[in-house]
Amino acid sequence: MARSCIIIGGGISGASSALTLSQLRIQCSLYELRDQPATIGGSINLTPNAISLLESIGVELKHGCKVDVIDVYSITTGYRLGEISFRRSGHSLRIMREHLQGALLEAVKAAGIPTYYGSKLKSIEDTSDSAEVTAVFSDGRRAHADFILGCDGVHSAVRTVHIEPNRRPIYTGVAAAYAVVDADGVPAIHFKSSAANAGRSGTLITSFIEEDRKKIFLSAGMQAPEERDREGWKSRGQDHETTMEEVHRRYKDSVIPSIIPLIDKVKEFIFYPIYKLGPEGTWSKGRVLLLGDAAHGMPPQGESTGFAVEDAVLLARVFDRFAEKELSSIFEVYEKTRRPRIDKAYKDAVWRWESIKDKGWLQHKFTEWLAWGYLWMMRNSIEASVTYDIRKETLIE
Ligand SMILES: Cc1cc2nc3c(=O)[nH]c(=O)nc-3n(C[C@H](O)[C@H](O)[C@H](O)COP(=O)(O)OP(=O)(O)OC[C@H]3O[C@@H](n4cnc5c(N)ncnc54)[C@H](O)[C@@H]3O)c2cc1C
Repeated sequence: MARSCIIIGGGISGASSALTLSQLRIQCSLYELRDQPATIGGSINLTPNAISLLESIGVELKHGCKVDVIDVYSITTGYRLGEISFRRSGHSLRIMREHLQGALLEAVKAAGIPTYYGSKLKSIEDTSDSAEVTAVFSDGRRAHADFILGCDGVHSAVRTVHIEPNRRPIYTGVAAAYAVVDADGVPAIHFKSSAANAGRSGTLITSFIEEDRKKIFLSAGMQAPEERDREGWKSRGQDHETTMEEVHRRYKDSVIPSIIPLIDKVKEFIFYPIYKLGPEGTWSKGRVLLLGDAAHGMPPQGESTGFAVEDAVLLARVFDRFAEKELSSIFEVYEKTRRPRIDKAYKDAVWRWESIKDKGWLQHKFTEWLAWGYLWMMRNSIEASVTYDIRKETLIE
């Protein structure tokens, strides 16, 4: 039975699912809000299993810096507290989001999947007496298909206009300020590929972003009050002076020789408020299913991008195995199979997120003291997560 699908959102989950589903001859069309692929966005950590999945769906990753361990340092003592290792499972890849998205969209283009930029979803019409579902866009265009995938991120319109209007994004209380600087002239760079530098006022991520090690990505997590609306965030983001001052204030006590020179090199930090969804939630309704952050946005923990790709690969497996079944049964198998891993990842992400918030002196010392043991204890669970292969997961009927 030939099926057709409208994908809302040309980000990571949208492009990935366009690729996996079109490989099954499901006719996909991609609709993206922006007029062109976004060039903003910091760097993303692609776990070993995410790299393997992307390669398996025909995505060629030409950029990025291989990371076999993330070194964890104390900013206040300079001591190396431990590491998050990918050695036993290969390596992860630190890559700019725009390069990853570019690679995905190149594969989408090569597969001949129609992509419509400047398409903002406004509403969805899905009635039980119709065999099709309709996406209505803000310029009045209408598109019809057998089903719709909501791949439109944590602020998803598919979710809020159709599936679960009350499930709104929740501000985590933390924003990331990020920048990319030249490595040239920075003294005593203390990490081989990537480091998490923990201080009393948050963690500063420092990482090379290409194999030539000429550029370094910096990202400072910092607590910031929520703005009232999108406009408020926009003007907060444009207040570069405040962001610069804030990052300096947070890391001025660093005893690691490269930290202050790295911060001093930044001309402009980009300000990115971090939102999540509440746990669980509804993922599908009628002929519409949510994937990626639209379904399970969680605080960043280095795996969210991989989860979006996993969603796309699993959904295609279910369509392939149960091609003749009703959509509702396909969505049910997908969700039953997917929930356990996502629910566990969500709990872990929320718990780990607490460790990056501002701390008092005593709490900071205590956290540092526990860090080595914590990282050692976590190593098996991190390894299990980054080697997990959704292609081998048993489908639950
Ligand atoms: C511009 C941008 C920058 C980001 N920067 C970072 C970062 O620095 N660090 C990090 O950890 N994560 C970042 N993320 C989030 C990260 O990409 C996701 O957590 C993850 O990759 C999951 O991907 P996703 O496809 O589910 O969602 P996303 O990657 O968020 O993609 C959602 C897509 O849907 C589109 N869209 C939204 N609303 C509509 C609508 N109404 N109609 C049509 N299309 C719509 C968006 O423009 C976007 O292209 C960023 C996301 C975006 C969109």
